[in-house]
Amino acid sequence: MRKKFIISISIIFFAIILILGCVKIYRVYKARQCGILLAFDDYNAESWEEYFDLFDRYNAKVTFFVNATEPTDFCYDAIERGHEIAFHTINHIDMTTITEEEVYIQAIKPIETFREHGIELTSFSYPYGAYSGELNDLLLQYYKVLRGAYYYQVVGKDVMRHGFVESLSIDNIHYSSDEEFEKHIDSIIAELSRNKGAVVGLFSHAIGGGDWCITGERLEYLLQKANEAGIQFYTYKELQQD
Ligand SMILES: [Zn+2]
Repeated sequence: MRKKFIISISIIFFAIILILGCVKIYRVYKARQCGILLAFDDYNAESWEEYFDLFDRYNAKVTFFVNATEPTDFCYDAIERGHEIAFHTINHIDMTTITEEEVYIQAIKPIETFREHGIELTSFSYPYGAYSGELNDLLLQYYKVLRGAYYYQVVGKDVMRHGFVESLSIDNIHYSSDEEFEKHIDSIIAELSRNKGAVVGLFSHAIGGGDWCITGERLEYLLQKANEAGIQFYTYKELQQD
């Protein structure tokens, strides 16, 4: 009887040690995981929705910074598929040119409207990447992350969780050929792989052939190469919740 008891206790003890070990390994793995915060700005629901299956194929969760007065069917569909709905003002307005009252209407009041419809907005991207220190101070009372649109910034996940963060456009207009785009993506992935736990913000608009879009082929190249390198696609909200 006593022997059985000791054996049972030993099994429980080793099981606990094993579980704690696995938790620790998982935590270290998670902290060292590199990532890309891929985002799409403005409102291009039809174009974006067409690529939901492609995102799924590469297990890529992305953030859509939308211009909208209230949540649309697209917003609910995107959340259902694991993506984030974030905000980009109602009318795509340059925030540095408007009054505080207009800032409230364009960027703060919609948080309430979306919340009433079941969507919690916690990330915001500045139209045209135009911001100021005063705007940051005001908006950070309501949003966790404010995203710019001009720079390539490889940072630790903690930096991406709160405050103003930069992001780089990978729209077609910046590349003269697919080769140039691919070379750029290869160099970003190589840099991420050298910096354990690092993340970078990249964004585009619609998916297609226009200047301020990314072609479907280029998007797939990015998803595929990141996947092969073991780089994860995070939404902004996902990092905020960690
Ligand atoms: Zn925009």
